Amino acid sequence: MQKNTVSREFNKTAGTVVDVQCSKCKRVNKHLVLSSVDVSGENWFGENSLQYWSEYQVIMCQGCETTTFRSTSQNTEDWDFVDHETVEYNQTVNLYPSRSEGRNPLKDVYLLPPNVQRIYEETIKAINNDQPVLAGIGIRAIVETVCKDKNSPGSNLVQKINGLVFQGVLSPDGATILHKIRTLGNDSAHEVKPHKAEQLGLALDVCEHLFQDVYVLPYYAAKTFT
Ligand SMILES: [Zn+2]
Repeated sequence: MQKNTVSREFNKTAGTVVDVQCSKCKRVNKHLVLSSVDVSGENWFGENSLQYWSEYQVIMCQGCETTTFRSTSQNTEDWDFVDHETVEYNQTVNLYPSRSEGRNPLKDVYLLPPNVQRIYEETIKAINNDQPVLAGIGIRAIVETVCKDKNSPGSNLVQKINGLVFQGVLSPDGATILHKIRTLGNDSAHEVKPHKAEQLGLALDVCEHLFQDVYVLPYYAAKTFT
């Protein structure tokens, strides 16, 4: 009979930097790992074993210096195919306090067209209430609605996102990220696969940048320079 094993390594990742949403800045910032414990082990069930590894980190935002806690976990039972031959272990990331709690809409939310505003506010509610499938679908709907509102050319969402670049409304870098959001919504709607809070938070950050470029800045520019 094999024995369960566990080992701990202290401060292996201390001094490294991770991209994490800040609880105070409300956006993704570089965070310095102040101290850490890496735990790895193997549990035996008869002839089969499960290996697992986790990180526990005290992290500090490099912008506002707020200190919070991040943990990650992976195990040999939770994986996806990357291609036909390679598998990748899924990583679960948890942040304390939870970053999605109390996420607020942009202060200029009233400058958005009413239908964009409605979907945006519902999507924030879905994120704040830990409903990742609905939040993923909501983010895709936001992108679709902005494309429609700006009469972006094209017959499908891929072409329409590229159309926003063609119209000069969106940067090519922004388009690359929106294409990722597009597939995010695809996964939520068609495979009912929940997305991680971190991914959803980042995706919503990108939507908010798009709102700034498409609706908010043009409004203030028109008000200031005429
Ligand atoms: Zn911060």
